[in-house]
Amino acid sequence: MAKKFKVEIVTPEKLVFSEEVESLVVPAERGYLGVLAGHAPLLCALQPGEIKMIRDGAESWYTTSGGFMEIAGGKASLLTDSAEPAAEIDVARAQEAVQRAKERLAAPAKGVDRERAKASLDRAQNRLRSASKRKK
Ligand code: ATP
Repeated sequence: MAKKFKVEIVTPEKLVFSEEVESLVVPAERGYLGVLAGHAPLLCALQPGEIKMIRDGAESWYTTSGGFMEIAGGKASLLTDSAEPAAEIDVARAQEAVQRAKERLAAPAKGVDRERAKASLDRAQNRLRSASKRKK
């Protein structure tokens, strides 16, 4: 059995995940990064994408909007604005978010923050991609 290590996924709202796993793959800025027990200390930025973990031999997938990961003291801590199990993504909600962001970008009204609309579009499209791959 592979050696385990602790992974915590934390958002401003809650502790999303806190378990021992055998492996972790995160969407780091320069591409997906794999982590096993005994990984050297590390601090890196995360981009929107999927987090994959193997726990007791079973895969679990989370969608993240990006943030940071710190590996220290044998533990991986992911600090992210949002993370949800890919299987629990509300597809209709993400489609509405895409629609809203596209309308804002297409016809920018006074007071519309384009960067904010683009970031919202990215988050929603990332959720849709993840849901289409992972939802049964
Ligand atoms: P929306 O415009 O639909 O609120 P958002 O991108 O602004 O989407 P976030 O601020 O990224 O939402 O996330 C707020 C909370 O809602 C987080 O807990 C996130 O995990 C959750 N969330 C957002 N969109 C979805 C979705 N489509 N399915 C499941 N959870 C979601």
